[in-house]
Amino acid sequence: MANWKKRLEAGALALSVFALAAVSGWGPGHRQTDQEVIGAAKLPAGPYVALTFDDGPRGSTTSALLDGLAQRGVHATFFVIGENVEGNELLLQRMEGEGHQVGLHTYHHKSLAQLSAADFYAEVDSLRSTLTALLGREDFMLRPPYGMMNAATQTRAAAPIVLWSVDPEDWSDRDTQRQVSIILDETEDGDIILLHDIYPASVDTALQVVDALMARGFHFVTVEELFAIRGEKPENGKVYRHLPPSLG
Ligand SMILES: [Zn+2]
Repeated sequence: MANWKKRLEAGALALSVFALAAVSGWGPGHRQTDQEVIGAAKLPAGPYVALTFDDGPRGSTTSALLDGLAQRGVHATFFVIGENVEGNELLLQRMEGEGHQVGLHTYHHKSLAQLSAADFYAEVDSLRSTLTALLGREDFMLRPPYGMMNAATQTRAAAPIVLWSVDPEDWSDRDTQRQVSIILDETEDGDIILLHDIYPASVDTALQVVDALMARGFHFVTVEELFAIRGEKPENGKVYRHLPPSLG
């Protein structure tokens, strides 16, 4: 079953590499100062933010997003739909290989609050099995479609439940300028930003936000990395909307 300790250690290792890369000046547009390098682990002082993408993958848009994130040395988290994984298996393996986090968003984008136990397991466990076969691990976090859930969802999840704290509702108008403005106004240390990697406008939004927030000193990490930074152990069935520094 899930081995969060192992993943957290892996996350910490990835962060060390990330920090060393940052200290050495790797990555566009960011100059590391001595004041930003803290503690024996040499983690940058932050602020930190997690970009998350729901409803993909989609061949064209997700590929473009992965290219842009790779150019910037940024990790993100992708809550994928099972039926969109079909035919896009290489994209999932690319995400994992490039240091991104993959999570569950059900097989058919069903609201978990309205499912029977059998249907819940069909939607969530079937996707977990698909991803395990593809990526060789099984400790995937869960984002319920529409953020809809109930007490049974938490009992049945067998995974930490990750919601969000910044939502520009990118599905509503595909207006990059408006979305970027909302995200830049609202984002604080430890926030989890919600976007959808199935729209070209959202890919543009994400990359503009990365450039603008990196210029302000933000570091982009996966949700798992954010837990590791805060020294917080993700618990199955527990709901997380953000991980502010007061947790650490
Ligand atoms: Zn969704």
